[in-house]
Amino acid sequence: MSYDDNNIFAKILRGEIPCDKVYEDDYVLAFRDIAPQAPVHILVIPKGKYVSIADFGTKGSADEVKALYAAVAKIADEEGLTDGGFRVIANTGLNGGQEVPHFHVHILGGQKLGPMLVKAA
Ligand code: 5GP
Repeated sequence: MSYDDNNIFAKILRGEIPCDKVYEDDYVLAFRDIAPQAPVHILVIPKGKYVSIADFGTKGSADEVKALYAAVAKIADEEGLTDGGFRVIANTGLNGGQEVPHFHVHILGGQKLGPMLVKAA
């Protein structure tokens, strides 16, 4: 799948759409999800054009990959999630329920999150 420059996170990265930013460095932007599913729900995205975690893991540089994980750890700590625990999700592709085709991880926390998956019928 090729990268779509018109996806919503590409527009956020270009400053065409506002976001509630919580963190930024040379490689990463993080902002609050517009439809939070937990008391803390933050999206962490690379600034590079990667469609999915598979694309990022294959083509991302060591600096980019390190920066994303470091940002997750830093944000979780700043949001007070480290001690109580939290969840990181990377929905991928059709079966994974990925809606926005720019790689992102969700940081979810602030309460007990329950089972990892609701069993499919
Ligand atoms: P996905 O299903 O692709 O893993 O998650 C996409 C996430 O992006 C959803 O949780 C959705 O609420 C969030 N989202 C979609 N559009 C926007 C937006 O314009 N701003 C923000 N902050 N979040 C968005």
